[in-house]
Formats: sequence, C-alpha cells, structure tokens
Amino acid sequence: VKKKGSRYEKAARPVKQAAVLGAGIMGGGIAYQSASKGTPILMKDIKDDAIELGLKEARKLFAKQVERGKLSTEKMAQRLSNIRPTLSYGDFGHVDLVVEAVVENPKVKEAVLSEVEAELGEQTILASNTSTISIDRLAANLKRPENFCGMHFFNPVHRMPLVEVIRGEKTSDAAVAATVAYARAMGKTPIVVNDCPGFLVNRVLFPYFGGFSLLMGQGADFARVDKVMEKFGWPMGPAYLLDVVGMDTAVHAGEVMAKGFPERMGSLGGEGQSSAIQLMYENDRLGQKNAKGFYAYE
Ligand code: NAD
Repeated sequence: VKKKGSRYEKAARPVKQAAVLGAGIMGGGIAYQSASKGTPILMKDIKDDAIELGLKEARKLFAKQVERGKLSTEKMAQRLSNIRPTLSYGDFGHVDLVVEAVVENPKVKEAVLSEVEAELGEQTILASNTSTISIDRLAANLKRPENFCGMHFFNPVHRMPLVEVIRGEKTSDAAVAATVAYARAMGKTPIVVNDCPGFLVNRVLFPYFGGFSLLMGQGADFARVDKVMEKFGWPMGPAYLLDVVGMDTAVHAGEVMAKGFPERMGSLGGEGQSSAIQLMYENDRLGQKNAKGFYAYE
C-alpha cells in the first residue's frame, strides 16, 4: 500500500475530467462515484438503453442520499450533472483519465482500448477495470503503453472501499500516480499491485467460487451454503455474491483464471469443463442484472 506522499503521489497529475467506457454495473457505479465526489465524467456506451440504466442507477443512489438528509436536492442536481452520457468519442480529446469498463472479453477490450486511444491526448491515462485479464496483454497493441494501467473497482462501487491499481511492465510512474490520486479523490483506498491474471483479490476470490461450484456439483443447497458462510461471518454467501457480480462476468473471468492457474482454478470451467456457474450462465440466469440468478429478484 502506497501512503500519501509516496513517490507515486508526488508526481500525480490531477484528474479534472474523467471518462468511463461502459455504463453497466461497473461503468455506471464508477460514473456515480466520480460525480458524487466532484470529478466530472463522460459515460460512454454503445447502447442507449445501457446509458439510461446507468443514469437511473446513479439517480437512485443520489436520491437515497437526499432521503437520508445527506444531500440537498440542488446538490443532487449539480452532482448528477457531473455525469455526461454519450454514445460518441466527441469530447474525449480533453479527458485526463479514461476507465474502460466494457465486457470481460480480451478481444473486445483490446479493440475498444485501441479505438479509444486514438481519440485521446498524448498524456491521457487509460485504465482498465478488468477483473482478471493481464494488463500486459491488454497493453500489447497500444501505442502508448506507458499511459496504461489497471484500475480495478469492486462491486458495488459506491460501497466497496478498495481499488487495485495494476502496474504493467511498461506502465509509467506518472500513470500510476494519477490513477492512485484519482482513486483517492473518489474516496477510495488504492493499492498498487503487480500484473498477473486476477491480480490480488480475484486470485483469492475465484478459488472460493470454484469450491462453491464443486459443492453445487455434488448436490449442495446454495441457500444453505450462503447461510453457513454468513454465520461464519462473511457479509454474504457465494451464491448471492455471484448474483451481484453477474454470471456472465464470473464465467468470462473464470475462464481467464482457469487458463492462468489451471492447477488451482480448473473447477471454474474452461475447456471440457462444465461448472455450476457455467450452467447458470447457459440458462440465462445472470443474477441481479436480469433479475434471475440463484435467487429471484423483483
Ligand atoms: P456489464 O455487462 O454490466 O456492462 C458492460 C457494458 O459495456 C454494457 O453496458 C455494454 O453495452 C457496454 N459496452 C460493450 N462494448 C462497448 C464499447 N465498445 N464501448 C462502450 N461500451 C461498451 O458488465 P460489468 O459487470 O459492468 O463489467 C464491466 C467490466 O468490469 C468487466 O471487465 C468486468 O470484469 C469488470 N468488473 C466487474 C465486476 C462485477 O462484479 N460485475 C467487478 C469488478 C470489475
């Protein structure tokens, strides 16, 4: 953990205008958090309805703060106006830092990162919110890999304090510094970690999902497993957590982890395997995002 005043932060260029690619669970959450702490953010998606959903979520979170008396309605309107939704790269030339939060698919991410890089100024930091994909892999086709790093938020963004800042082989100190400073400006606790599939937290979390998946394969009752893990002292059990994460994201991330660490993560799926999480995904039980996962939602 790099404390204030470390070599990273001394060199930090402030982020005055941010942007996020993707208005989904994570992109919407990142936009809300940035706007809420006063940094204007462009929120770009390829679908109008995704943008609408992202904005709806942000409005809901701001409204909750108004209800609790923590925010006036004027301030709510002001903070909400910090989020500028868009379907184009029109204003990306003036952005200080972009967080990419599109689907967890290496090929899609590579294409999107190259596409956005062409729209950015020489000094703009480009960060990926990937859960598992190696930062060096994603940097391989970029023209300015020194400006690129990982900025991995956790779900739900407004509640989870940690942000992993992932340093790739070519990432510059300046890029790490700006990203760490932006995470702090968003009220988060950044940790700087090295690059590998899953970084730090998901290397711990995914074997746990794999263990849960094995239990399911042996006929365990997911709701009972959840209850037991709650009694154990965790805030939620694995089935509920998977519903929050999204089965599609868990499957895509699980594939990357299984490839990276086959000896430890084989039970997550990958070639020739069929895990419980995979079966949920194939049956369109994505979790909270489509209101049906292990549990049903309104
Ligand atoms: P999601 O499916 O909710 O949202 C992805 C969004 O990206 C969609 O709205 C989609 O329309 C949009 N998109 C696709 N292609 C695009 C493009 N070219 N330009 C702009 N937008 C595009 O997914 P999510 O759960 O928000 O995950 C996004 C990223 O965050 C993934 O890399 C995931 O691994 C990571 N992540 C997810 C979680 C989680 O718990 N869900 C936690 C941490 C990190």
